[in-house]
Amino acid sequence: MPDKIDQNLTFAFAEESRTAARDAVFSLKAAEEGFRQLARLFRAMANAGLVHRQRFLLLMRGKISATEENLKEAFQNKNRVVEECYPGMIEDASEASKAVKKAFLQSRKTDAEHAEFYRKAMENMFSKDYMEYYVCQICGHIHEDFAPENCPVCQAVVSRFKKID
Ligand SMILES: [Zn+2]
Repeated sequence: MPDKIDQNLTFAFAEESRTAARDAVFSLKAAEEGFRQLARLFRAMANAGLVHRQRFLLLMRGKISATEENLKEAFQNKNRVVEECYPGMIEDASEASKAVKKAFLQSRKTDAEHAEFYRKAMENMFSKDYMEYYVCQICGHIHEDFAPENCPVCQAVVSRFKKID
């Protein structure tokens, strides 16, 4: 029953992604508490989770829709997060935590920018342009062609940008 297998692959992919992210956070906490070896163990687990995820991804590749459809889905998903998810979370964070509110506000802003990238990409899907992308490692802002002196969203300095291969 291929449908069940596809569902299981999708589930395993999501689960490994979530677990790897959790293990990365656990590693930070262990390091903060002075458990160097345990921090390293959690980092190893996080990396192993990414290996699993990549393996499942390769098996899923043949079952995934064509890129035109994926762009549309990615665009809609970004818009949904920006319009429906972040506003309430920002509101909830307003009183409790300035840092969480800032993270949600900046993530909402960069996700709105990301939606615009997808929108433009859908319009220019067959363009031969091959531009560079630089991602701010603080807020997730994506800059085209070059890394700016300061991130326009979070003001991080140029060295905090990562060039994407
Ligand atoms: Zn930034």
